[in-house]
Amino acid sequence: MEEEIHQLNKAETSFRTIIEPFKIKSVEPIRMTTREKRKKILRDAHYNVFLIKARDVMIDLLTDSGTSAMSSDQWSGIMRGDEAYAGSESYERFEKTVKEIFGFKHVIPTHQGRAAERILFSTVCKKGDVVPNNSHFDTTRANVEYQGAIAQDILIEEGLDPESPYPFKGNIDLEKLKALIHRVGKARIPLCMITITNNSGGGQPVSMANIRAVKGLLSKHDIPLYFDACRFAENAYFIKLREEGYKNTPIQEIVQEMMGYADGCTMSAKKDGLANMGGFLCTNDDFLAKRERELLILTEGFTTYGGMAGRDLEAIAIGLREILKEDYLIYRIAETEYLGRNMEEAGLPIVQPPGGHAIYIDAKAALAHIPPSEYPGQALVAAFYLAGGIRAVEIGSVMFGKVDAKTKKEIPASMELVRLAIPRRVYTQSHIDYVIEVAKRVWKSREALRGFKIVEQAKVLRHFTAKFEPL
Ligand SMILES: *Cc1c(COP(=O)(O)O)cnc(C)c1O
Repeated sequence: MEEEIHQLNKAETSFRTIIEPFKIKSVEPIRMTTREKRKKILRDAHYNVFLIKARDVMIDLLTDSGTSAMSSDQWSGIMRGDEAYAGSESYERFEKTVKEIFGFKHVIPTHQGRAAERILFSTVCKKGDVVPNNSHFDTTRANVEYQGAIAQDILIEEGLDPESPYPFKGNIDLEKLKALIHRVGKARIPLCMITITNNSGGGQPVSMANIRAVKGLLSKHDIPLYFDACRFAENAYFIKLREEGYKNTPIQEIVQEMMGYADGCTMSAKKDGLANMGGFLCTNDDFLAKRERELLILTEGFTTYGGMAGRDLEAIAIGLREILKEDYLIYRIAETEYLGRNMEEAGLPIVQPPGGHAIYIDAKAALAHIPPSEYPGQALVAAFYLAGGIRAVEIGSVMFGKVDAKTKKEIPASMELVRLAIPRRVYTQSHIDYVIEVAKRVWKSREALRGFKIVEQAKVLRHFTAKFEPL
């Protein structure tokens, strides 16, 4: 039956229109606003979209994390949730699913991805260690650094060039990895991580060839390989689409091959778990698993629920199977690409090629008249909200700018990006068409856009609460 459906969907893709592979049973109204109204809302929020209420947003592209729409199966799973403290049936189903899909020996449930990171790094890292990764996600970096270790990004050069169309811009630079092992020695590298897909680098995938080569190199030095597996299914689908030899391989087999090269993973179920909360840590190492479970009990919860309710475990167990369905992945990647290609055709400079979960606009190129010190990304984010009630997020000097301790001047970030992240199964094509129309209008009026200055800010993670004034 599954196979039949698969064949059917393959045949259907000869049509130009890729339909959403779901019907809508339950709806959540969008509250419409006028430009006049949004002008006031934006002013009241001090031009920081994090301070805008969700009900005042029409299309919310702030993040794809925890914002997925759950299926009717997942909702029925929620009713079935076994809330027993120890040994719940929901945990059995969760553990069985994770083991079948990921193939690791131990599964440790956590309340979200960063809890898995904290447990992993506080078990394996010590002061002065170095953890290589294609690009550390911000919570991953923070958890490595909290242990006094160094989080070292070793992405290939193509990954740093917004215009490069290279198909696997998330790949690790093998020469840099080799040099790093040579320089610091294997004793100081407790593990190497690969983030699939590379969130901080634009949602770009990592090729199977690269994973295999990294594993080969690490094996020679007895260094374990871990995945930051948040978007593992999207990465597997990119391998199927773009890598020689995988065109006819089922997604589940691609995932199994990928995971087969690793010794463990961290996972946020808020991404490719299709759940609103949850995560887990996997390892093949019995000794580590024992220590990790001790820490788990200390701060997260007992080993058969971690930081989750039984119903969360059910939602994730079902979500992990749904995310591997090819018709879902076809639609998912096509939706993101559709948004990217249309923005590109309208002239907007975007990071190439479109990633898995988001489109990134190069605000430095788009608004060349606004210097980084006046936050071109923030100007674009404000313009998207004002023009169409769309919430995007600045990933540039507001988020990563640093004040120089000596000169007190601000050092800008290396890139000024604006991210439009797409929640899973939430918006239809007409929502995306609307986003494209708004983007075109913003693009047309770009010369009239002005920069911002920050009038109030916190010492760390200032982008969440900073207050701005237009220049
Ligand atoms: C979201 C994310 C995390 C952290 O997961 P949370 O569930 O938000 O704690 C780690 N790595 C990557 C790549 C992510 O996208």
